[in-house]
Amino acid sequence: MNADRPPALHCLVVTQVLYLAGWGRSGSTVLETVLNQVPGLVGGGELKFIWRRGLVQDRRCSCGTRFRECPFWARVFTEAFAGVPESRLAALDAATDRYRTRHLPALLLPAARRRYATDLDWYRADLATLYRAIATVSGARAVVDSSKFPSYLFALLQTPGLDIRVVHIVRDPRAVAYSWQRDKVDPDAPGNGRMPRLAPAVTGAYWSAWNVATERIARTNRLPYLRLRYEDMIADPRATIGEVLELVGLPAESVPVSADGEVGLGVSHQVSGNPVRFTQGTIAIRDDAEWARRMGPVPQLVVKAVTTPVRQRYGYRSDRPSTRERQSA
Ligand SMILES: [Zn+2]
Repeated sequence: MNADRPPALHCLVVTQVLYLAGWGRSGSTVLETVLNQVPGLVGGGELKFIWRRGLVQDRRCSCGTRFRECPFWARVFTEAFAGVPESRLAALDAATDRYRTRHLPALLLPAARRRYATDLDWYRADLATLYRAIATVSGARAVVDSSKFPSYLFALLQTPGLDIRVVHIVRDPRAVAYSWQRDKVDPDAPGNGRMPRLAPAVTGAYWSAWNVATERIARTNRLPYLRLRYEDMIADPRATIGEVLELVGLPAESVPVSADGEVGLGVSHQVSGNPVRFTQGTIAIRDDAEWARRMGPVPQLVVKAVTTPVRQRYGYRSDRPSTRERQSA
């Protein structure tokens, strides 16, 4: 359990949350789809967006149906709130905005955990109820949340009744920047939208800031923490994801990946996230090394310059990142 939590009756029920942190396009959705196949875990997707993209915009659940038509989420909202909390939906959405990245500097201040957004106790009580209902309906011992935002991680830290463990996934910033440059269809966005795009220098700046902020929040709050690199997960998914399972008290050998790197994906119910979450059937966990072949030298240099020294600390010193790292915050 987390320290500094005010005593309350509902704290007697603790919901374990495995929070996938890191900057976008680093492989968190792939990791979550694999974790969702593990007995005892349920992947909820990017739960930060459950109010806006889920209930307000009614985007698609990863099972393929509209969010409001998904039978899994209907059961969750019935369990949590006796139905969708329509009357405070706008307020829940607005409260989530209080944990946007722009507020991150305030959230990193000493004592922020006790003093930030003290008027939002009702919001955090609803979050506790929501996560507890996800665990109850799925029968899982831990809810996987791939929201990634360090600012939203802070909201969960302030929420009573959550036992939070953090998996911080990082990927070579050049690969990440290449992905953010590409023009891709977003099958989840309204009106045949496209995935958002960012210039390499901007991606590099976000990559550094988010990763440093994630580490700082995990360290200062003494959270169980595992940092893994996407490249290590691709090279040895069973060993790397096995360490993730151990972080939530599950046996490492439960990783549902075959020796040749294949995993069978069933129906999932993830809200928001990379389009790969819609995939079902057998997939191979392999590196998408297109960036190494197609990314020009100038953008690569820009990204390397902007992300030094953070990338060096993560072992991205050369073209071939080496050993796996494990760290307790
Ligand atoms: Zn669904």
